[in-house]
Amino acid sequence: MFKYLVILFLVPLPLIFFFQPLMGNTETHKKDILLGKFSPSTQSNFIMVEKKYLADKSRIIYLQKEAYESYKKMYQEAARENIQLPIISGIRTFYQQKSIWEKKYNNTYKLKFPDSYKRALAILKYSSMPGTSRHHWGTDIDIIALDNQYFIKNKKGIRDFQWMRKNAGKYGFCMPYSAKKSDGGSRENGYEMERWHWSYTPQSKNLLKQYNESIKPQDINGFAGAEYAQKINVIHKYVNGIAPECK
Ligand SMILES: [Zn+2]
Repeated sequence: MFKYLVILFLVPLPLIFFFQPLMGNTETHKKDILLGKFSPSTQSNFIMVEKKYLADKSRIIYLQKEAYESYKKMYQEAARENIQLPIISGIRTFYQQKSIWEKKYNNTYKLKFPDSYKRALAILKYSSMPGTSRHHWGTDIDIIALDNQYFIKNKKGIRDFQWMRKNAGKYGFCMPYSAKKSDGGSRENGYEMERWHWSYTPQSKNLLKQYNESIKPQDINGFAGAEYAQKINVIHKYVNGIAPECK
């Protein structure tokens, strides 16, 4: 009996030492993926969007393969009804988001918002802090026009939006930045309404779950103004401040 106990205690120890660094790396890798700290061109589950689907043909945009396949089917059905759904943005990495964020934080928003905390809040009306964007996941797309007024006032824009509202769900897409309470909707927190941003939920629901399990407030760092991430409670209010049907 004693002999077996000794074996039981001796064997797992070296195994733990052997696997521990590997386990650590896997966890870091998973976090980096959720925070957008990777290059989509090196990932087998990502694919470059074909030029015909792009609003600006000179851009290079990647998406998750599964989300892209479903988008293409949706695009085809829309085209048969004379509706165009060109992609303006797909995956954006942490580094791309950092460049967008810091340009506003250090430059374009600085004069109007000299107080850096208020400036961060103003930028957060429409732009994410690096590490907190759904665009990091490759499941979300911006389509047609980055302009709410286009979808409210322009005849074609109104028709495009109605079509998406009616049909996007069939292809797994939902609109995470739905109307906020101030617009007569039900959403309390997060970015302003974005009628152009659609998310492929068969993948993004799972990624949001993983994000909430793995990413801690202190993981949101590495850019100007990151010190406000915790004060603003950016994970709770912005990453999770989305329409209930997208959760
Ligand atoms: Zn977007």
